[in-house]
Amino acid sequence: MITKGTFPTDILEEFRTPLYYYNTELLRDTLDVVNNESKKYDHYHVHYAIKANANNNLLKIVRESGLGVDCVSGGEIQAALKAGFSSDKIVFAGVGKSDWEINLGLDNNIFCFNAESIPELEVINELAIAKGKTAAIALRINPNVAANTHHYITTGLKENKFGIDLSHLDHVIDVMTTLKNLKLIGLHFHIGSQILDMSDFEALCARINELQDQLDAKGVKLELINVGGGLGIDYEQPDQNPIPNFAPYFETFHKNLKMRAGQSLHFELGRSIICQCGSLITKVLYVKEGVNKKFAIVDAGMTDLIRPALYQAYHKIENITSEAEAEVYDVVGPICESSDIFGKDIELNKTKRGDIIALRSAGAYGEIMASQYNCRTLPAAYYSEDFL
Ligand SMILES: *Cc1c(COP(=O)(O)O)cnc(C)c1O
Repeated sequence: MITKGTFPTDILEEFRTPLYYYNTELLRDTLDVVNNESKKYDHYHVHYAIKANANNNLLKIVRESGLGVDCVSGGEIQAALKAGFSSDKIVFAGVGKSDWEINLGLDNNIFCFNAESIPELEVINELAIAKGKTAAIALRINPNVAANTHHYITTGLKENKFGIDLSHLDHVIDVMTTLKNLKLIGLHFHIGSQILDMSDFEALCARINELQDQLDAKGVKLELINVGGGLGIDYEQPDQNPIPNFAPYFETFHKNLKMRAGQSLHFELGRSIICQCGSLITKVLYVKEGVNKKFAIVDAGMTDLIRPALYQAYHKIENITSEAEAEVYDVVGPICESSDIFGKDIELNKTKRGDIIALRSAGAYGEIMASQYNCRTLPAAYYSEDFL
């Protein structure tokens, strides 16, 4: 957490802003809760969705906690291996895997490919034949379940590009029986992100139950179900709710999913694990008087944290160096784009040049999505445990 006592604002003079600051104690506490809650069910396996944040120092902490990892590119597989994740805990998803990425997965004997189309299955099979290997496959299904979230981050609807349509599943399984170097081990789903309404996951469970009945009738046996990720966090009140509600999340699947004997249940959680531990720290460059409003112009921009510009996402914004009475500001960055706005009509303690602003809940889809647009320098990262 970044609160006035805990963030070392006094040492900021030495550091170039903007920067990412990670509360590694909170990350460890979050991982403890994930482990305690998921281990109540002995067939649960949690993979960290590395696309949320692939910072090597954080990955090592995640790896030490015993989680597996969910990758969506060859680069992510490389990042996971570099951080020491064992390859038999790597699952590899993605609608467009290139040949080198598939080969990387095969060479490292990753646990499972989450595959999404017949042409992809054919390519994985061919590349596996060339290596004399068998690739374990979970078929990513598009369950046509709506998630109550932003339309850019819902993924499980017919209109989305992801997964195999329910009506095509039988045919895909028939084709798979002819692809001898593939082994069908499970079904994979991922309905979206920042989901807080457990009834969305209940709907997913109901759909999976139907599918399992259908596959039983066909005589298809599966070792695992992978329900993806998507558990949301509290962006409004990061201090009150620093650790997401993992208990009811895991319980929802326990109560609603009818697992077959011996099946394991896999999860791919990104945001819920890594989001609350990160803040983007930025310095106020200017306070500019507009027409009927004030702009706090900060040195971080959409290049450092793109979520507000890309998804109209809310991040709590705090002036952590001012105690003065609150005033209302639009908090904006320096990038030459009108969408480079972190928040409109934000109450901040009266702000002046040189003050330090924290954009909270920035651990997920923050640093990893940073770009060098406008020839900007990528933000550096610092860790609370280095300041103890
Ligand atoms: C993005 C993604 C996740 C993680 O989503 P979160 O909302 O961060 O938990 C999991 N699985 C797949 C396939 C993904 O693409």
